[in-house]
This record gives sequence, structure tokens and C-alpha cells, in this order.
Amino acid sequence: MEIENTESEETSETGQLEDAKKKPEVIYVSSFPPHLQRLLQMLFWRRPAFSKADDLFCTNFIDAAIPHIVIEEGAKGCRWVRKSDDPILWLAHTDTAHNQEGRQGYLLTQDKSRALAGCTESALGGDDTAGVWLLLELIKAGVGGTFGFMRGEERGGIGSKAMVDCMSKDWFKRFVMAISLDRRGTGSIITRQMGQETCSSEFAEDLARVLDIGMKPDPTGSFTDSYNFRGLIPECTNLSVGFAGEHTQHESLDLVHLTRLRKRLIKRWRDIARIKARRTPTIEREWGFGNIWRFGSGSVGGEKDRLLELVTQWPHRATILLRRQGIGADNFWDLPTRVHTTKKDKK
Ligand SMILES: [Zn+2]
Repeated sequence: MEIENTESEETSETGQLEDAKKKPEVIYVSSFPPHLQRLLQMLFWRRPAFSKADDLFCTNFIDAAIPHIVIEEGAKGCRWVRKSDDPILWLAHTDTAHNQEGRQGYLLTQDKSRALAGCTESALGGDDTAGVWLLLELIKAGVGGTFGFMRGEERGGIGSKAMVDCMSKDWFKRFVMAISLDRRGTGSIITRQMGQETCSSEFAEDLARVLDIGMKPDPTGSFTDSYNFRGLIPECTNLSVGFAGEHTQHESLDLVHLTRLRKRLIKRWRDIARIKARRTPTIEREWGFGNIWRFGSGSVGGEKDRLLELVTQWPHRATILLRRQGIGADNFWDLPTRVHTTKKDKK
């Protein structure tokens, strides 16, 4: 009581004034164009791979929207639907990088151009809610090809690996291209993943020309589901869908880019389906915890190289682990990378 009646009253008054100034205007989902409302509803769900929320999300948003969706036995709950014989396999993943499942709030900028993580200490989940939404929009608009809703991508592409195992080689033969809609930023058409070419630059350049929204071939891809099809499908790429800072509480989603990409894919998909493949499906190396493979300048990969690959694939997780060990941006260069041990230490 005493505290309330003294100096703190002034500060709380100032505080209230500040709060009033800062109070955000409420933006209702219903004030968005109808096609974006579904996306905004989907972003309320945090969906760690194979969680109950991930399952419910699949039932409520995917199965309910698409009649005749197929769930193959052994495909870890991945869904696919064949809309036409066109040689495109469109891909997105249903899981998000959240640790905890359930509903969440998030923020929208006043100009309605971006969604931002904000109300919780976790990511927005634009990765890969944006991709799933795009697949649904393309299906609704009558775009052709086969659509794959993958599970467990965030845990190393569990679903797409299972698809490779449970589908016949013939099933994959009809595809010239696997297009994942799961890349950060607004400008990338990914040509390499995990250090391997998965899509030819010629194909990526043709795709860039057809899309004509400033997207360009980009060799800096890490990993997404289309990587797992690189030995079966000639051109395996990943397109920027507008999220940034994914897997962190700073994640945002560029709704302007996503809307523009949706429009272009719907308008030009027939021209995309006609782009010629130049790459031969190959697996340069198999990656996995127990595998030996070559990385960079030809050294035989051991535990150190596998760790480097994991850090490249999961930079945000690596950052969290480093910070937990007390290594941050301020002391990143301070600690020696070589540790000199004396004979005494070795004993
Ligand atoms: Zn993703």
C-alpha cells in the first residue's frame, strides 16, 4: 500500500500514458481479403512434428479442404493429391519448429503487410504455414500437378524420406520437377541443398523468367523435403515464400510477397510445367548420423564434418546451443578454437 501511495504513483501515471500511446489498434482477421483469412487462421497453431496439434491441423485445414486426399501406409501421415498429370510435385510441410504445441497469438503490422511473432517466446510458424497455405490456394485455383503435404520436415525430412521408401520408382517417374515452397526471404530459387546441386541453374533461370517477380537462382539452400527426392526427380528446388528469422521469436512473414507469389504461380503454372529438365537425378552423397560422406574439400567426413553439416542445416538451433554455453556475439572471437593440452592434462 505504502509503495502505491508514494513516488511509484507518478511513474505508474507516466507508464499509463506511455501504454496509451503504444496501445496497438486491433486488426481483425475478417478485415483481410478472404484468401488471406485462412492463412491468418492457420498461423494461430503451433505444430511440433507429429504432435496432436499437427494432426488436428492436417485434419481441419487440409483433409477438410481436399476431397480424395491420399495417405499412403508407411508415409508417416504425409498427404498427397494428384490434380492432373502435369509433371510438377508441389511440396510444403505441416510441422512448425515450435517446442510446444497449441494455440498462439501473433502480431500484424498496421499496414497489414507482415505478420510477426510477438505474443509468445517462440517463432511465428510462417515456416512452413506459408507453404501449406500456398498449396491449398493453388489447389483451389485449379493448378495442375501433384501436391504433397509433408510431415516431420523440421526433424530431418522424416515424411519425405518415408515417401521415397513407400512409393514405387514409377510413381516418381512422372515428375520433372519437385518445387518446395519452404524457403526464407523473397528472392530465392534454390539450386543447391546440403552442398549438392539439386536443380540446374538453367532450370532455375527459366523459372525466374516465368515468375518475373525478381526471384533468382540461389545456390545457398540448406535442406527441405525436395532434397530427399533428388535421386528420383530431375529438378528439385525450393522457393522463397516470405518468412524471415524462422525458428526464432523474431520470425516474420511478408504477406505482400506471399500474395504476389500465389498470383504468379496460379497465372503461370502451365508455363512452369513446360520448363525442360537439364539435371539427371543423382545422389552425390547420402547424409545421416551413421553415414560417412565427403564434405567441402574432399576430406572424409567424420563426426566433426557431420556436426558442421548440422550447424549449416540448423543455424538457429546451433545459436541457441552456443548461447547456452555462454558464447554470444560479444565473445565469439575471444575464445581460442585450439585448446593446448599438457601431458599432465592428458592423464
Ligand atoms: Zn521449413
